[in-house]
Amino acid sequence: MQDLLPKARKEFNKLQKRLRREMGQAIADFNMIQEGDKVMVCLSGGKDSFTLLHILMALQKSAPIQFELVAVNLDQKQPGFPEEVLPAYLQQLGVDFHILEKDTYSIVKEKIPEGKTTCGLCSRLRRGNLYGFAEKIGATKIALGHHKDDMLETLFLNLFFGGSLKSMPPKLLSDDKKNIVIRPLAYSREKDIISFAEQMDFPIIPCNLCGSQENLQRQTIKGMLADWEKQYPARIETMANALQKVAPSQLADTSAFDFAGLEEERAKAQADRIQLVNTLATEA
Ligand code: SF4
Repeated sequence: MQDLLPKARKEFNKLQKRLRREMGQAIADFNMIQEGDKVMVCLSGGKDSFTLLHILMALQKSAPIQFELVAVNLDQKQPGFPEEVLPAYLQQLGVDFHILEKDTYSIVKEKIPEGKTTCGLCSRLRRGNLYGFAEKIGATKIALGHHKDDMLETLFLNLFFGGSLKSMPPKLLSDDKKNIVIRPLAYSREKDIISFAEQMDFPIIPCNLCGSQENLQRQTIKGMLADWEKQYPARIETMANALQKVAPSQLADTSAFDFAGLEEERAKAQADRIQLVNTLATEA
């Protein structure tokens, strides 16, 4: 960690407290971690996953329940990946860890034509390997480092380019119903995580060693959200709150709300009203 002057140290303590409080709240609101859980923390070597691991380790010490943490990094065999960095760091941190080696880089290079973005397939392969490994080590939860800004970006990506109204949930059961994924940083802002990671001096490993550009659509959305935040500072929080106030009856998805059954609901309400009036009349 960086040496800080007293004022900066005070600010850092406030930031650390805020990240802990937000994570504690997210864990409680979504019942993310239970007594006896073995939480596999996916560590990419980026700012988000380092922050996730650190704050989870701090919460583990003060939590009223017992749970295990194990950090797992998938070495995807990208050229230039500094293999020694994470093991050395994790050893010094004193956390259980595994480094899983899978050459997904070659698969991605072989399957995706030159110039096309490779992040989609790369992430799917990474997810598949990590989910499989979680089962192997008996992990009951898989923790990922996505934060509030990721969730909003995903919401707009799906809205603008995917034609669906969905984001990244704080807690998720995998499609095969074998793994539960949690996102304990769901209430935290990326700017706080950047600042925490800088001051903690994490040995960051860039994701784009593979040479791929970050998805262009995501960059566009990021830019849009940043502009909005400059213009209307509270907008990000307002939108994030909206993710927790969904009104399916005010949208148009027949699988999320029973529009066809409204007549039946009205008839039932009418019958209930008549019954209430009759009961009151009998009592009077
Ligand atoms: S930048 Fe490279 S390593 Fe990172 S997700 Fe995209 S393809 Fe995978």
